[in-house]
Amino acid sequence: MSGFAHLEAELNQLREKGTFRQLLEVESEQGARVKINGREVIQLSSNNYLGLTTHPRLKEAAEQAVKRFGVGTGSVRTIVGTFTMHEELERRLADFKHTEAALVFQSGFTANVGVLSSILGDQDVVISDELNHASIIDGIRLTKAARRIYKHCDMDDLEKALQETQTYRTRLVVTDGVFSMDGDVAPLPDVVALAERYNALVMVDDAHASGVFGRNGRGTVDHFDLNGRVHIQVGTLSKAIGVLGGYVASTQTVRDYLIHRGRPFLFSTSHPPAVTAACIAAIDVLLEEPELIDKLWENTRFFKEGLHQLGFNTGRSESPVTPVIVGEGSLAMKLSDRLLEEGVMGQGIAFPTVPENAARVRTIVTAQHTREDLETALAAFEKVGKELQII
Ligand SMILES: *Cc1c(COP(=O)(O)O)cnc(C)c1O
Repeated sequence: MSGFAHLEAELNQLREKGTFRQLLEVESEQGARVKINGREVIQLSSNNYLGLTTHPRLKEAAEQAVKRFGVGTGSVRTIVGTFTMHEELERRLADFKHTEAALVFQSGFTANVGVLSSILGDQDVVISDELNHASIIDGIRLTKAARRIYKHCDMDDLEKALQETQTYRTRLVVTDGVFSMDGDVAPLPDVVALAERYNALVMVDDAHASGVFGRNGRGTVDHFDLNGRVHIQVGTLSKAIGVLGGYVASTQTVRDYLIHRGRPFLFSTSHPPAVTAACIAAIDVLLEEPELIDKLWENTRFFKEGLHQLGFNTGRSESPVTPVIVGEGSLAMKLSDRLLEEGVMGQGIAFPTVPENAARVRTIVTAQHTREDLETALAAFEKVGKELQII
């Protein structure tokens, strides 16, 4: 069919640059080792931090939910798609996050879009870190509020933005807790102190921090002892929680408002029973099996240290998200391809997801990796890194 020549031209440019990607097919369950192209490889690219995608308690909860409640809800939440378990999950999330209330969205992406597009009006301003997640950027695109972008984690620039926006009705400072491409952590105590000084609200997206930072994985707000001082916490149920979904943990007012005005919440069908029940079981696991989080951090320290000793550039990472930054997009893809041939899955990431000259293989170890997995992976990084003259 003709009519897409302009798309073909753009795709051809990607092919020439060596950054055109095929989707990789995983032929097994998610885990520290997965089957790709009929072969078992060590997997270093998932967000399955705690291995919960296959945790027996989550699988059992999902199976029971399917047996009792079927596979779908048949409605949006606001009509007849709110089951008792949806409300239970939200109460559990609010308790877990030490907030008054929580509301679940279909994904972390739609949670950000739903909140940011709805809670501010044209008398307001949103002030956002330049490296915030794409879903925050898209949410901001949909708001009627004015926008200010501050330099990444630059508190002087944030303060300048706060000084220059004092005439607006409501000001909302938005930041990722852990930044998804670099694995660095926002200076939240400073962000909150500044926001309080200038009477602004704070929203933190803890997608990569929930299940990873804070007591029992409560996130960066808990990690920095800022409970009660961050107005909106967004989290995902799709990463460390191991299932699917996103949520907004905040006040009852914000929850009620989003139920009436949060468009992805209003106009998209609610989570199937299996998803909701598995998420509830995941909170139980976080509360009762904190040793998973300890193991995640032990593996993170070991792997990061190994990469440093080999001489790789891991940027400013302070979390399990550890980028191996190589520069050119085509080199990152070559590194990724060669690692896969050596039995290690590490996804190459290039522009526009990261800056043009900072392409990388992004690694994320999980609680499921054994010491042997990580040693084998480091040996592959050493071999291929030398071969490609990265180290
Ligand atoms: C992954 C991610 C999201 C999206 O979460 P999903 O549940 O996968 O839609 C939102 N924000 C940040 C910072 C993320 O890393």
